[in-house]
Amino acid sequence: MTTDSTLRFGAQTDEVTSLLRIVNLVRTGEATTRPEIGRVTGLGRGVVTQRVDQAIQMGFLGDGEFGASSGGRAPRTLRFQSERGRIIVCALGALHIRVGYAELDGDIVEQKHREWDIARGPAETLKAAMELLDDLLKDAEEKPVWSVVIGVPGPVDFSTGQPVAPPIMPGWNGFDIRTPFEERFDAPAWVDNDVNLLALGERARRRDAYADLIFCKIGSGIGAGLLSQGRIHRGANGAAGDIGHVRVPDSDALCRCGKVGCLEAVAGGWALIRDAELAIK
Ligand SMILES: [Zn+2]
Repeated sequence: MTTDSTLRFGAQTDEVTSLLRIVNLVRTGEATTRPEIGRVTGLGRGVVTQRVDQAIQMGFLGDGEFGASSGGRAPRTLRFQSERGRIIVCALGALHIRVGYAELDGDIVEQKHREWDIARGPAETLKAAMELLDDLLKDAEEKPVWSVVIGVPGPVDFSTGQPVAPPIMPGWNGFDIRTPFEERFDAPAWVDNDVNLLALGERARRRDAYADLIFCKIGSGIGAGLLSQGRIHRGANGAAGDIGHVRVPDSDALCRCGKVGCLEAVAGGWALIRDAELAIK
């Protein structure tokens, strides 16, 4: 059944979709003038003008320089207003906390770091992370926070933002990481496995929205982020790419997760330090 309200809702959704698409085209540099946007999207001139005006009013886009002329009057370029808002980032590692903030283009503006053992548990760790953020932001210019991103060194159920049986994070299973950040910054927060975020960062660095790659991180632990056609493959319980605790042949090395023969118990950073210390004794 079609009613007036579903029709209106449908039209509104199209409007939002084309608005977002236009903002993203400018943000990624794929199309930066109104005529280019028309060519790429196939939208009519009137619609493009209307959407661009909306995006400017909402603070996403601004007018830039005049572009190259193709005969007639040179079209004005548009620029993404990345300085209008701030993204808070918080990378929780096995042995450190790194916090920072970026503009909306994702470039980190300032960051702070401290050593920290994530095994101290979620309450103490999040308190330490918040203190580090307060310290970082106390001298920063006031800007609206648009979102918060938190990376953790273990599998995450992305829909809830909760760690799922993380092997090296005792006490973190099912912990609600998102809410304290959402309450502190009054902005949506996303939690993901740290290597997934690194893989997404690599996708952005390559400017390839459809990248196929495996990003492998070897820190104190070992993990991998899998991108297929630009999409993160998370797997059941976010465990895809969690290769650090896969058993390798012919090893009986005790892992910090409690099992024996894990890949990281052989080749992770902490295992290399263990071997080096044994060698010099
Ligand atoms: Zn293990």
